[in-house]
Amino acid sequence: MTPKISQFLAEKKPQTPCLVMDVDEVERRYRDMQAAIPPARIYYAVKANPARPLLDRLVFLGASFDAASWDEIDFCLSAGARPENISFGNTVKKVSAIKAAYEAGIRLFVFDCIEELEKIARFAPGSRVYCRLLVNNQGAEWPLSRKFGTTPESARKLLLRARDLGLDPYGVSFHVGSQQISTDAYEVAISRAGALFADLAADGVRLRMLNLGGGFPIHYREDIPGIRQFGQTISRALTAYFGNTLPEILVEPGRFIAGSAGVVSSEVILVSHRGYDEGPRWVYLDIGRFGGLAETEGESIRYELRTARDGAETGPVAIAGPTCDGADILYEKSGYVLPVTLEAGDRIEILGTGAYVSTYCSTRFNGFLPLTEYYI
Ligand SMILES: *Cc1c(COP(=O)(O)O)cnc(C)c1O
Repeated sequence: MTPKISQFLAEKKPQTPCLVMDVDEVERRYRDMQAAIPPARIYYAVKANPARPLLDRLVFLGASFDAASWDEIDFCLSAGARPENISFGNTVKKVSAIKAAYEAGIRLFVFDCIEELEKIARFAPGSRVYCRLLVNNQGAEWPLSRKFGTTPESARKLLLRARDLGLDPYGVSFHVGSQQISTDAYEVAISRAGALFADLAADGVRLRMLNLGGGFPIHYREDIPGIRQFGQTISRALTAYFGNTLPEILVEPGRFIAGSAGVVSSEVILVSHRGYDEGPRWVYLDIGRFGGLAETEGESIRYELRTARDGAETGPVAIAGPTCDGADILYEKSGYVLPVTLEAGDRIEILGTGAYVSTYCSTRFNGFLPLTEYYI
């Protein structure tokens, strides 16, 4: 938690649940990444948190943007981003969105299959296109599964086809899975991409761009490698597989830029023993799975919690949200402990919630309003 957020919470005591984001921290993370991976141009993955104050700051810093839909493109343009600094990075795009993007001047599109490539050729003629490779998401705490990406053999054919369709076969992308804690994942993916660049050069197509995707992790409860370590591995792999002819390098961080800049402040609604002799107390908060903490599904993302009673004796707890839905349990198996004196009315701060929380929030499920957001 940054000093600015602590001070805001202490002085303003805002109604809960709310998300407080320190926009200066977003800037620090952006600069840290730039310093750690100097050859890369940063395309912020807007889906992580599309709030205007955050986009404004990133535009000011000269960032580029990875957008998933026409509306996200529109957010970026309204914040002053130039169309040449926006990539339409979703492999699944509505025709109406491709048309609108093209009309707005967007010329960089991703694809991973012939059907999407043909849509782009028809509705965004002559654009730069890049093909997403399927890579192993092992090591990622929030994997992106087999929903996206294709094999190197198929990518080779598709990029040749792109040229025949009058598009500019520009490059290759991958995503190693979100909250990826293994630096090796990037190395393996870069080696695959390198082989594809070589194969296509042999076919007479010279690709010019490699997009390393997102996935860069932030600290939750467990320690993770720092961004410098990711930078070192990436730099070594780029030299090993591309030598002196580096293509343009892109990264698309979402979580890394926004995640640690945000804190959710919540209130304990109930602490109960429920008549069990054994087993944990149940702690119910005024935010849960449906209030934005969707990444607690499968207890995948394990947030760090703070209370005003930290330092006192603790005991095991299960933690759940406020709705009448059985799936609205945050943690039962991950070994959470909280102070034994915790009681209804206490506040709990949930750290690292700047990414993938505000946008995952449901509207009025069980009557609960979406969480309030403060950008300071
Ligand atoms: C979600 C996403 C990102 C951002 O991923 P993080 O793990 O948050 O860095 C980047 N690129 C694409 C294509 C994505 O779908």
